[in-house]
Amino acid sequence: MAVPLLDLRAQHAGIRDEVVGEMMRVVDDQAFILGAPVERLENAIAELSQTRFAIGCANGTDAILLALRAFDVKAGDEVVTSPFTFFATAGAIHNVGARPVFADIDPDTFNILPQAAAAAVTAKTIAVMPVDLFGQIAAVDTIRAAIPDLPIIEDAAQTIGASRTIGGKKTMAGETATIGTFSFFPSKNLGGYGDGGMMVTQDEGIATRLRRLRVHGGMKTYYHEEVGYNSRLDALQAAVLLAKLPHLESWSAARRKNAEYYNAAFADSSDVRIPFIDPANVSIYNQYTLRVTRRDELQQHLKSRGIGNSVYYPLPLHLQPCFAYLGYSEGAFPESEKAALEVLSLPVYPELQQSQLDEVIEAVKEFYGN
Ligand SMILES: *Cc1c(COP(=O)(O)O)cnc(C)c1O
Repeated sequence: MAVPLLDLRAQHAGIRDEVVGEMMRVVDDQAFILGAPVERLENAIAELSQTRFAIGCANGTDAILLALRAFDVKAGDEVVTSPFTFFATAGAIHNVGARPVFADIDPDTFNILPQAAAAAVTAKTIAVMPVDLFGQIAAVDTIRAAIPDLPIIEDAAQTIGASRTIGGKKTMAGETATIGTFSFFPSKNLGGYGDGGMMVTQDEGIATRLRRLRVHGGMKTYYHEEVGYNSRLDALQAAVLLAKLPHLESWSAARRKNAEYYNAAFADSSDVRIPFIDPANVSIYNQYTLRVTRRDELQQHLKSRGIGNSVYYPLPLHLQPCFAYLGYSEGAFPESEKAALEVLSLPVYPELQQSQLDEVIEAVKEFYGN
């Protein structure tokens, strides 16, 4: 029996009537851009994130782009981020005319190392952008303590609903950054039936600016204070997400349970290192990512057994051809480069059956001969 890396059809089967009901209301209303469902979703995500404001937009990449624009980014400005992330993080920095400056990761969590991020700050830095990789929140609090005067944009595309306890207080993904950004790409823990994104903030001025930037830079139709974007969340996506949101917590709990099952099975392996979750964090396991020996061979073996898997991410961003102009060479960020060679993500989606989990475990153990 094949085990896919992700099975969105299994999820849809359980919620079909709720989702279709919400979607049909939008269809009958014939109001597709922004509007009431988007506002309802914004309120719900602000509540989940414990932030005062949430602003929907077209996708998670635009959420980063608009967030950067809220700080009046100009050519030559620098933004510090991780080289071990999805391309969009640094792509957005480039596309607003700024320069991505990378800082290496913590080999345990895969998230940017706060000391390295602080050390990469120069007089030209306008923001620091930690990424919450694979489902656990980056050390935003430690970064903030190190650079109290700079805005922090938290790329929380992979952590909606994840929490981190800071000084005894439970904080949520996006909450403690100046702006937190989410993606509703279908494979995220809360995924739409198409693209979608959102930004959260505690700052009213920033929220107003973001609302303006997403509609061509003008709050009043046909009058523009600045040049913005067409980056609106559409009502159909909001309807889908509103139907799915009440399930998010139980889905993320099911992912955690699956991760714990794998962890127990791989605990004694000398070839497989299970994910490290910072004790302050509750991960939502957008990915269950191992470090393994003979990674590429294992990947082939799993593929031959019909076990879905993927490498997130095989080439760190500082070594991407499009960023050659930044002048980084191999060896610049050893932990990111090492991670890129060792990581492998296994199926962890909530609807996985016990027999499927066992099949994945068996295939990994078979490869290492134990
Ligand atoms: C998915 C993702 C994005 C981009 O989101 P889109 O909605 O696909 O534009 C950005 N950063 C990270 C870390 C992601 O995982």
